[in-house]
Amino acid sequence: MPEGDTIYGAAERIRNALVGKEISSIETHERFARDRWPERLSGRGVRAVESKGKHLLIRFDGDLTLHSHLRMNGWWGVYPRGRPWSKSPRRVWLVIRTADHDVVQFGGPVLELMTDSRSRIDRRIAQLGPDILADEFDEPRFLARLREDDPTRGIGDALLDQRNLCGIGNLWKAEACFLAGLDPWRPLSEVTDQEALSAIHAVRPLMLRSGQGGGHVRDRMVFDRTGEPCRRCGTKIRARGQGDDNRMTYWCPACQA
Ligand SMILES: [Zn+2]
Repeated sequence: MPEGDTIYGAAERIRNALVGKEISSIETHERFARDRWPERLSGRGVRAVESKGKHLLIRFDGDLTLHSHLRMNGWWGVYPRGRPWSKSPRRVWLVIRTADHDVVQFGGPVLELMTDSRSRIDRRIAQLGPDILADEFDEPRFLARLREDDPTRGIGDALLDQRNLCGIGNLWKAEACFLAGLDPWRPLSEVTDQEALSAIHAVRPLMLRSGQGGGHVRDRMVFDRTGEPCRRCGTKIRARGQGDDNRMTYWCPACQA
């Protein structure tokens, strides 16, 4: 599942391909035919491409924004002209072409064109907590949101809630708790501000590097390593579903107390 670092990296590649470039064509899957995007976006340039957590916003001239969220199975591809695409053309929702690139969204449940003002008040975007990959992560706002959350909730589950902060998915949640030495099951009431921030400080640079490298993650400490030895102490990594959504949490019972 794409996490914030994947979307951050995609936004950067899409920005480089589209901002300030002449758009030669826009094509959509027939499921979007009634929305007439090619006509509505014709002649408009791309002003900006932004990521906010796992959301991606392509802002066109004249107050129109494409909003995308990939969830489990969507994908953004940016291909130099003439390079074959990496996924099946059957799942192509959108192609934006310039003289040099094809920018393609494959699948994903959310792809919609809205006005800029609507994109600012849309609840799915407006209620997001601070973006872990923003140029300056808003620590006070993150801590305020965390303290408004249910104090009995486990820190691992709370880090996944995009209203507390956005961009962290299941992989980075597990790695953040390990690197900060935090048991993901420890209730928020027993996690200090400093401990919560140390989890963020541990993964933010890794996520930035992963985003800039195209979203590939190496050397996972705990994620998807059930039963394998901890890289620090050799104890077997454990795994169990956590939270209302029962998302799998991985941890070392010795290193994370
Ligand atoms: Zn360990």
